[in-house]
Amino acid sequence: MSDEEALFHWRKTPFYDLAASADRERNRKLAPGKVSYTMFRIINYTDICQVECNFCSFMKTPQSGGGYTLTIDQVLEKTRQAWEKDYRQVFFQGGVNPEIPFDYYTKALSSMKARFPGIHIRAFSPVEIREFSRMTGRPVEAVLKDLIDAGLDSFPGAGAEILTARMRSILSANKTSPDQWYEIMTAALKCGLKASTNIVWGSVETDEEIIAHLAMIRRLQDETGNVLSFVPWTFQQQTKNFQTRHVPSHEYLKMVSLARLYLDNIDHIEVSLLVKGRQVGELALYCGADDINSPVYEENVLRSYGLASEAECVEFIEQAGFTPIRRSFNFTYGEKS
Ligand code: SF4
Repeated sequence: MSDEEALFHWRKTPFYDLAASADRERNRKLAPGKVSYTMFRIINYTDICQVECNFCSFMKTPQSGGGYTLTIDQVLEKTRQAWEKDYRQVFFQGGVNPEIPFDYYTKALSSMKARFPGIHIRAFSPVEIREFSRMTGRPVEAVLKDLIDAGLDSFPGAGAEILTARMRSILSANKTSPDQWYEIMTAALKCGLKASTNIVWGSVETDEEIIAHLAMIRRLQDETGNVLSFVPWTFQQQTKNFQTRHVPSHEYLKMVSLARLYLDNIDHIEVSLLVKGRQVGELALYCGADDINSPVYEENVLRSYGLASEAECVEFIEQAGFTPIRRSFNFTYGEKS
């Protein structure tokens, strides 16, 4: 599908027509009737952040005098709690806190791996890597190598939102520019890390900007081959500093369908139950999505409609009409980490 065709479908094609094509494509590519889930714990190691994205209610500025940073022992305790509940993945992420030295991160990763050798650690995003490179004075590739040596297993394509210069200036002027985001993602994936990617829309982005964002994700995968999945998210009104709009369910389902068809080089489309809820989530599984990105243990950033346990995931997928299958981060079915 060309960019022009994608724009045409986004604007003009009824969502149910796109959904039917996306469902066929999903069943051609992947085992029909199976939907995967994966269990991970989010550990937000600090809520102090100097980036100040307009949409973020999670962060506290370094000047505020508030906020927290977890000690390594606290990180290990949270990992232990997850491990004992059979969660085998940690999503280790937080604000860009200028007070935290680089060796905190390598120590946190290596300590988690030493204590829980089977744990999978997904951590950071391009904006953190840019800061690590700045604070250490070392190239991005060298910083990534240190983190991988310490235990980093995979890299979220987080902090993307809408990858155009205009939207960046509205949402998050201090964050990595779209080109910086792309360069750091490419570097990380060329180091062998695998990643998920996403879009967050429902603000003042244009249709053209949505397609430009998807085009950058498709190009990233063409160049690296290490993008495992794509997750459509919508903005939630967390602050008064930027404008959101209601994204109707048919638009969300159209995005899921378009992602399945346009991102033909990415195997897995995940549905975000955290923002659109269970009923829309069920329908998304008939629009090209094959994974539910749940359950999540501890989510501090988003209002949650999520599923709280493995049993709830199994029940949700069965009630939607599919056979549930647990997966690792790398989409190895039947494995946990
Ligand atoms: S979204 Fe992330 S980078 Fe932006 S202000 Fe919040 S914590 Fe900082």
